Amino acid sequence: MDLAKPIPVFRIFGIQVNLDFSWFVVFFLVSYTLAEYFYPYYYPGYSTGVYWLFGALSALLLFTSVLLHELAHSLVARHYGLPVKNIYLFIFGGVAMIEEEAPSPKVEFLIAIAGPICSFLLGSLFFLIAYFYPENDIFNGLINYLMYVNFALAFFNLIPALPLDGGRILRAIIWAKKDLLTATKVSAFTGKAFAYFLMLLGVLSLVKGNFLNAVWYFFLGWFLKNAAEVSYEQTKLSLLLSQYKVENFMQTLKPLLYSDTVMTLMTVYYPFYRVSTYPVIGNDGKIYIVSVKDASQIPQHLWNETSIMSITKPLEVYVSPYDNLYKAFKLMDRYNLDEIPVIYNNTVLGILKRSAIETILEKYFSEKKESF
Ligand SMILES: [Zn+2]
Repeated sequence: MDLAKPIPVFRIFGIQVNLDFSWFVVFFLVSYTLAEYFYPYYYPGYSTGVYWLFGALSALLLFTSVLLHELAHSLVARHYGLPVKNIYLFIFGGVAMIEEEAPSPKVEFLIAIAGPICSFLLGSLFFLIAYFYPENDIFNGLINYLMYVNFALAFFNLIPALPLDGGRILRAIIWAKKDLLTATKVSAFTGKAFAYFLMLLGVLSLVKGNFLNAVWYFFLGWFLKNAAEVSYEQTKLSLLLSQYKVENFMQTLKPLLYSDTVMTLMTVYYPFYRVSTYPVIGNDGKIYIVSVKDASQIPQHLWNETSIMSITKPLEVYVSPYDNLYKAFKLMDRYNLDEIPVIYNNTVLGILKRSAIETILEKYFSEKKESF
């Protein structure tokens, strides 16, 4: 089993929910703490089985609360046309993998605030339930726990430190007044400051002898620090690459025709263009795609009689020559491609290679190093 690979669990509103392996660790830790300490201490008189049942149920509902929080971000993002790849649940909670950067401060603000609003509403709901269910039994404990965790999720996430929601809200506000780069710089700075503060709490916990808390604070701080740095780098990358248009970096290329054979691809196109995927015009006028890898599976003596159409796939993804390189780069990342066809008005113009984008990045980063 590959521990680094997230485990797909289910889809909700068309969004895939994935669990990281670390989720199971925290699920167990939360269940254990609640079953062995919280419930027996505040609600004595039940059996161990009941405590564990409520411990596991509470942990499950805690993660449901996190999932709903992430779902709120995701649905607002999708409402504004930003694709959501999946929701990822892991040791520190959840992340909605939104694939594109918000196009404006307003959209950034609304996506960011949706999560804490959802958690706040859930917290209020459990507050009301607790109000109408004053019985001091273990159910009351569960309701109180859920009220507490949802309010905690709302308020913790509102801390103005990237990558927390509050950091995104801060970024949106500064972005509206100044520019995206400055906004990201400031909120990544507060993000790192907050991360170091958590690590300091880790050290203090260690001094006090609370090893588990120390480890927790330290890793959370370390995770947030990295994430704040990545957000800043990501923004720089997006601003750099969105200045360039695909048309200036693509390689022009003539598509294959449905009447061509594998022989044409392997002996004419491939030696000439040296790319690994080629657009093909089908007899229905649609564009298909063929890869040299698939063609090379066919025995050479059959190349001349094998129609190119027998190994084509439908065209899944392409860019326009007027798209910017950041969009192309993100698409290549999402679909795990080294090349992407450039198509305009159903006409194949060429292909954009990942290496063309990487050349720009290398040039940019080497110039940056020289300026230090
Ligand atoms: Zn959030």
